Amino acid sequence: MSNVTTPTPAVDAPVRVHGTDEFFREVLRDAELPALLPALAHATGDFRLVDPSLRPAGGPIPAVTPPQGGMSPQAQQRARELAFEALRRLRDESPRPLNLTNDADLMPLVTFMTGEQNVEYLPLVNHELGFGRDGGDPDWTIDEIAPHRAADFHAVIIGCGPQGIQAAHRLRQAGIKVTVLEKNGDVGGTWYENSYPGCRLDTPNFTYSYSFFQKHTWPQAYTEQKYLYEYFSEAASVLGVRELVWFNTEVEKLRFDDEASLWHITARGPEGVVELTADIVVSAVGQLNRPNIPDIPGADTFQGPQWHTVQWRHDVDLTGKRVAVIGTGASAFQVIPTIAPDVAHLTVFQRTPPWMYPAKDYHEAIPPGMRWLLDNIPHFHRWYRVYQFYMNIEGRIPFMERDPDWKHPASCSAKNEELRAELEKYLRSQFADRPDLLPHVLPAYPPGAKRILRDNGVWARTLKLPHVDLVNCGVRCIEPRGVVDNDGVLHEADVIVWGTGFKASDFLYPMTVIGRNGVNLHEEWGGDVQAYYGVNVPDFPNLFLLYGPNTNLVVNGSLMFLQEMGTEFILSQLKLMLETDSRSIEVKREPFEAYNRWVDEGNARMSWSDTRANSWYRSTKSGRSSQNWPYSMLDYWKGTHGWDASVFTLR
Ligand code: NAP
Repeated sequence: MSNVTTPTPAVDAPVRVHGTDEFFREVLRDAELPALLPALAHATGDFRLVDPSLRPAGGPIPAVTPPQGGMSPQAQQRARELAFEALRRLRDESPRPLNLTNDADLMPLVTFMTGEQNVEYLPLVNHELGFGRDGGDPDWTIDEIAPHRAADFHAVIIGCGPQGIQAAHRLRQAGIKVTVLEKNGDVGGTWYENSYPGCRLDTPNFTYSYSFFQKHTWPQAYTEQKYLYEYFSEAASVLGVRELVWFNTEVEKLRFDDEASLWHITARGPEGVVELTADIVVSAVGQLNRPNIPDIPGADTFQGPQWHTVQWRHDVDLTGKRVAVIGTGASAFQVIPTIAPDVAHLTVFQRTPPWMYPAKDYHEAIPPGMRWLLDNIPHFHRWYRVYQFYMNIEGRIPFMERDPDWKHPASCSAKNEELRAELEKYLRSQFADRPDLLPHVLPAYPPGAKRILRDNGVWARTLKLPHVDLVNCGVRCIEPRGVVDNDGVLHEADVIVWGTGFKASDFLYPMTVIGRNGVNLHEEWGGDVQAYYGVNVPDFPNLFLLYGPNTNLVVNGSLMFLQEMGTEFILSQLKLMLETDSRSIEVKREPFEAYNRWVDEGNARMSWSDTRANSWYRSTKSGRSSQNWPYSMLDYWKGTHGWDASVFTLR
C-alpha cells in the first residue's frame, strides 16, 4: 500500500449543529438541495432524504442550468421540509451517521444522484466522492513490486501546475523518487501566470479541484484567480510536492538513450544549464501557456506599453488611460469589464463575437445559507462537488453534435439550433436598448465551434458605456499613437492589451524531444499532435503526457477528473513495467493509429470541427481538432482503466 496518504476526514463522526428553527429555515432557502439531501442522509442515517421522488432531473443540461437540478417546486418544498427536520435532529439528538465506507449505505445516496439506470457511472462518482478511500491512490509501491530498482528509479515531471502537482503526489504515493522542473519561480501553472484583472474560473468551482484534496471554503461559485493559486499552492505544500521542485528551471531538450532506457534532460536553471537523467518523464506543461501575439505590422512602433493578458503589467496603472484590447476570447472577455470603470477610453477590437451562457451568480459569493451549510455539515462539500461533476458529466454534448443534413447559417443540428436560439434570446435581451450593437455581438457560427463564455450581464453593460467602442472590422496595423482598423481609422491609445490567446496546437513547444532511434517528436507530429489517450506516443518510451493532445474538454465533464484519470493511467503502466521488470513501456503504432482514427471520427461529429469560426480547438497547421476529447467521461475512464497490456511494448 502507498506510503503517502492524502488527508481524508473521518466519515462516521457524529455531526452537531446549532441554531434556531427560524435560522434553519433561512439557511435552507440558499441550499443546493440535490447535494444537501444525500449529505443530510449521510449525517442522520435517514434514507427518506434520498427518496427517488426527490431526485434531480438528470439528462442533458439546457442552455440555462435549471435551479435545483430541475427539481419540481413540490419536490423542492418536500426536500426543504425533510432537510429542516434533519437539521433539528442534528441539533437536538445525536443521530448515528452512515458509514459510507460501506457500499450498502453508500449506494442509495449515489444512485439518488445518478439514477439507477446509470450504474456504469458509479465507479466514477465513488472516485470523485473519495469517502474513506482515495480512489486514485496506487495499490502498490515500487518497494513492494520492484525492490531492487527502488533506490535508483527516478521520475522527472516537467511543470508544477495543477497537473504536475497531482502527478508528483501520485508518484510519491508509489514510493518513486520525483524531481519536478518548473520554469516559473512558484507552483500553480496557469493560475500563477494569469493574474490579469478579472481572471477567474468560468466553470463551476467545486468540481475544479482534486478528488483527493477537497476544500469546503471556496468563497465563490466561479472562483477568482487568487483563490485558485492559493489552493494549488497549498496542495503542493501539504502533499509534500513543493520540496521536490527545481524552480526557474526550464527544460530545453529531452533525449532518450535506447541502450540504457534513460531520458537525458537538458534544462536551463538559475545557475545555467543543468543535465539530469530519468527513467521516466511526465510532461505536465499545459496546453495554454505560450502567448500568441499576432504579427501585426507596426506593433513594435507603438509608443506606449503593450502586453499579453498572461504577462499582465501590474506596474502600469490604467486609471485615466486610453486602452485598446485586441481579442474577445475568454481572457479578454474577463479583462474588458473589469478595467472599463477605471480607464478614460476603451477600444475593443473584436474579430469574432463570443456566445455566452447566462449565469447570474458568475461574480457572486457563495450565499450565506449555503456557506453555513458547507461550513457546518461535514462532507456536504463532497456531495456538492460530485453534484457539479455529475450534472456536467455529459453536460451539453447532445447540443454539440453535427448533423450533415442540417442547413442553417449559424447552427449545425436541430439540438444545436435549440441551444443557439436560447443563447441568441439572451443576447437580444441584453442589447434590447441598443439595437445598433446587436448585429455586432450576435455570433454567426454554431455554439461550440469556439469556447462558449459565461456572463451575468456585465458584458453588455460594458459595451454600452459611453467611453467604450466596439470595433469589428479587424486590425490593419499599429502606429505609434494607436491601432488602425481595417477601414483605416486610427484608434488612439496609451496602452495595448493583447487578448489574443495561446499557441495551443504547439504542444511541448519549444522543447526539443528526441525519442527512440533519434526520432524528433515535433517532426514526427508534423504539426498534427496525437497521443494515445493524450498520454503515449510511439517511439517515445517512458514519456507520458498530461493534458496532452485531445484531452481538453468543451461542454462535458471536468478537466481535473480527466487529468486524474490520465495520471492513474500512467501509474498503472508503470506498475506493469515494474512488475515485468521491463526497462521501458511504449504504445504500439497500430492501436495508437486506431485510437486516433476513433478520436478524429468523434471530433468530426462535433460543433468544434465546424470551420465557421476560428478557434484554438483546431490545430493551426492541420485543421484537425488536436485539443478536444469528443466522447464521454465514461469512455475516457474505460480507456484508461480497463486497458489491455497488448497495446504496449515492454522491453
Ligand atoms: P482565445 O480564446 O484563443 O481568444 C483569442 C482572441 O484573440 C479571439 O477573440 C481572437 O479572435 C483574437 N485574435 C487572435 N488573433 C487575432 C488577430 N490577428 N487580430 C484580431 N484578433 C485576434 O484566447 P484566450 O482568451 O486567452 O482564452 C484561451 C483559453 O484559455 C480559453 O478558451 C479557455 O480554455 C482558457 N481560459 C479559461 C479561463 C477560465 O475561466 N477558466 C479564462 C481565460 C482563459 P477570433 O475569435 O476571431 O479568433
